[in-house]
Amino acid sequence: MARVLPYADMDKIMSLSKRRGFVFQSSEIYGGLASTWDYGPLGVELKRHVKEAWWQSVIVGRDDMVGLDAAILMAPQVWVASGHVENFSDPLVECRNCHLRFRADQLETDNCPECEGEFTEPRRFNLMFRTFMGPVEESGHEVFLRPETAQGIFVNFQNVLNSSRKKLPFGIGQIGKAFRNEITPGNFTFRTREFEQMEVEFFVKPGTDEEWLNRWVEERFNWYVTYGIRRDNLRLRRHDPDELAHYAKDTYDIEYRFPWGWGELEGIADRTDFDLARHAETSGENLTYFDEEEKERYLPYVIEPSGGVDRATLAFWLDSYDEEPDGDAVRVVSHLHRKLAPITVAVLPLSRNARLAPTARYVHDLLRRHFSTQFDDAQGVGRRYRRQDEIGTPYCVTVDFDTLEDQQVTIRDRDTMHQVRVPMDQLVGILQDKVEHGW
Ligand code: ATP
Repeated sequence: MARVLPYADMDKIMSLSKRRGFVFQSSEIYGGLASTWDYGPLGVELKRHVKEAWWQSVIVGRDDMVGLDAAILMAPQVWVASGHVENFSDPLVECRNCHLRFRADQLETDNCPECEGEFTEPRRFNLMFRTFMGPVEESGHEVFLRPETAQGIFVNFQNVLNSSRKKLPFGIGQIGKAFRNEITPGNFTFRTREFEQMEVEFFVKPGTDEEWLNRWVEERFNWYVTYGIRRDNLRLRRHDPDELAHYAKDTYDIEYRFPWGWGELEGIADRTDFDLARHAETSGENLTYFDEEEKERYLPYVIEPSGGVDRATLAFWLDSYDEEPDGDAVRVVSHLHRKLAPITVAVLPLSRNARLAPTARYVHDLLRRHFSTQFDDAQGVGRRYRRQDEIGTPYCVTVDFDTLEDQQVTIRDRDTMHQVRVPMDQLVGILQDKVEHGW
């Protein structure tokens, strides 16, 4: 496939985003809330498909994984045990002149980039959002919005072990919202204060952790490639020892070449038994595992692949954007993987002619039970193909006057623009096969 651009620029993606309904500024009619975004009708489908692809690959498709959906609000002791109350902070500096605030570790100059003013001394700023539980606003009622989904998994380790009868090595995965009061959010949906994570905690016997870390790094890297990101735009970066988080023995980041530079999509960390040990100590519960084969009891080590749904969604979308020459014009086409595209099949009657409508509606009703679909009969069919190309719809099904005679419809492929005519009564099966295996 000819690719004119190495990747889309952000201005184009942001304007397409608003125009076609992928992502809107949150609370826009009130002037917007900084760095907070709402997913529109197409964005929500794209993001949902990214989460489904992850769930299929990481949970449903494996014998050694189960899922979980833990609450956002948790007992405050969780965050003391996990080290977040003490350690989850960034160094904050404030300009003495214009009072803008910055993360000291991300600054490239000694003075304020806005007004050249001098900075205050850095102070630690805890990134957790606080709120109060119940009607009394006192410190005893203070709770946190979780800054990661991981801790919901650790505190349920025994529950899941006892109820699912899993044996090590096995893992628990979940997808859910997390909140961080980032000092400098930005770059669209890349860094926000409310975002979604997809995380796995994979429990292993100590001593096998390094091997499992390598297996998960490879597995997770390949997932991004399978779903369409070009290998050249991905890289693996191992953390330097002085960069490791307080809980980690080793960490690899999977990074994507965003238009502004390399940025993290997912971190895969060897967390050792840090979390289970801290929770056992703080809660007084026994969180060890009895290994029946080895006849020994130990605290499992944990490998954690932790990715961001919003960052993955943005990367899949950026990497699939293309502008292809089309005569004197340009065809804007998004080559999103067929399982990620917001709309999988669009049904397009050749025209608005009343004779075509019942059959076109019948075909749409047939398909919508199996796929994400859209029905579009406004304007010429060429314009409608372009509209679907722009949002990445892999297959368009056209109903024309011949259909009324021979009961056949045309399927058009987004990438090659090839067309085939197929019997209507085989359409669902043929499309299911294409979605599974490609054109
Ligand atoms: P960064 O260094 O970019 O702040 P991090 O190393 O703090 O990220 P982790 O704590 O490893 O991130 O979180 C796991 C994943 O959650 C990240 O790889 C990223 O995809 C996602 N994530 C973290 N913070 C944000 C955020 N503020 N906005 C959107 N996604 C985020």
